[in-house]
Amino acid sequence: MPGGTRGAHEGILRRQAARESAARTYARALPIVPVRARGLTIEGADGRRYLDCLSGAGTLALGHNHPVVLEAVRRVLDSGAPLNCLDLATPVKDAFTTELFRTLPPGLAERARVQFCGPAGTDAVEAALKLVRAATGRTGILAFTGAYHGQTAGALEASGGASDVRVARLPYPQDYRCPFGVGGARGAELAARWTESLLDDPKSGVPRPAGMILEPVQGEGGVLPAPDAWLRRMRALTEARSIPLIVDEVQTGVGRTGRYWAVEHSGTVPDVMVLSKAIGGSLPLAVIVYRDDLDVWPPGAHAGTFRGNQLAMAAGTATLAYVRENGLAGRAAELGERMLGQLRELARSYACVGEVRGRGLMIGVELVDPAGEPGGRDGERGKPGTCASPDGRTETDDGRTETGHGLTETGRGLTGAAGHEPRPTAPHLAAAVQRECLRRGLIVELGGRDASVVRLLPPLTITDEQASAVLDRLADAVAAVAGGPRAGA
Ligand code: PMP
Repeated sequence: MPGGTRGAHEGILRRQAARESAARTYARALPIVPVRARGLTIEGADGRRYLDCLSGAGTLALGHNHPVVLEAVRRVLDSGAPLNCLDLATPVKDAFTTELFRTLPPGLAERARVQFCGPAGTDAVEAALKLVRAATGRTGILAFTGAYHGQTAGALEASGGASDVRVARLPYPQDYRCPFGVGGARGAELAARWTESLLDDPKSGVPRPAGMILEPVQGEGGVLPAPDAWLRRMRALTEARSIPLIVDEVQTGVGRTGRYWAVEHSGTVPDVMVLSKAIGGSLPLAVIVYRDDLDVWPPGAHAGTFRGNQLAMAAGTATLAYVRENGLAGRAAELGERMLGQLRELARSYACVGEVRGRGLMIGVELVDPAGEPGGRDGERGKPGTCASPDGRTETDDGRTETGHGLTETGRGLTGAAGHEPRPTAPHLAAAVQRECLRRGLIVELGGRDASVVRLLPPLTITDEQASAVLDRLADAVAAVAGGPRAGA
């Protein structure tokens, strides 16, 4: 066996459990010991092979160990270039910056500055917050429900799970769990109006902020794509009030959503973009790019030892160029649409699949408790094996399934015209689907409210055959958890 043995595999997992922190995350749900990886495939120390749709939490645009990435890394190693350079100029960094600027949305590209940050998305978020505070002289930040921006103090504060907040929280539009109970364009319009009124009401309790930060598709938040019209509204609202708009493209960037940068779907040009994950070609790298007139912070305003990772820059340059030259954003759009279509069949077959949503190759399948009351929210319900009961859902034009009919008064308030009364989240079912996927050799991620959304983030290089294999395994896993398709399916 190339990587080891079943005994070695178990020994490593046992020692990990004994020695590593209680705060460890992925390792708990995914008891695998990767020893080799290529493209979509990971091979474990036990000799098992897995299709990896976690992709380093959305990092691997080209999958594991893509030849162009390996070649770029080898070239730096063989050249004798220094591996650690602080923020000094190097040919490797120069090439990375040139390629990065080449990809930026028009409107930002011509006037862009780049700040190399410490090697994590969260550090780049901190840099963005500092930048807009320095540029505006203001302190407050506008952020959104369900947001995820990282784990350092400022980024955490801007995230939806924050408990100690100095940011003003605004509603992020979403169909299935629309805070206004209507979803669709109407829900997004109401969300935008709330934001506008907060900004313009002198008694809103929210002083003019230093910036607004948002994700064009919330990833950790449960794969929630922002409607393009809403994003344009946020751009117009902030621009008219001289509030810098920070778009966090840490997870959505480099083709993932079907455009090179997710803001391009809406034609929005942000003032600041936060970039990490895929830009390092699987190695750690994080930057912010922003319009030059914001560049008024002093030297050292955002420093850090590890801002010069030459291997990551070389791997990143190769990845950015490969995605651009091979039209992988377009491929993500096309394949993602097909995968979403097939997954929506799954939603029609199983009452425990509440909604299937996504953009490009950022896909989410929300598990709900089919026995739960629509409009209820009980993350503790939804035990495995309770998924197959028929319900009264209707199908929408775009293939989504919905509960309820028409605008009706319920004990819990208004149900929207499209009947937006989602069933309660089902974290137990989502965890069971993740386990069943793993048993079938498929690695998926969980996210969203109560970790009840199964997430797929396959590499943009995934083939049609591999995509079919992924969907087959996921469908089998849902069937196993559901105990069979729902009646009438
Ligand atoms: N922003 C977004 C949108 C993210 O998805 C993440 C990570 N999942 C981060 C920021 C934080 O990045 P990191 O984990 O590298 O600090």
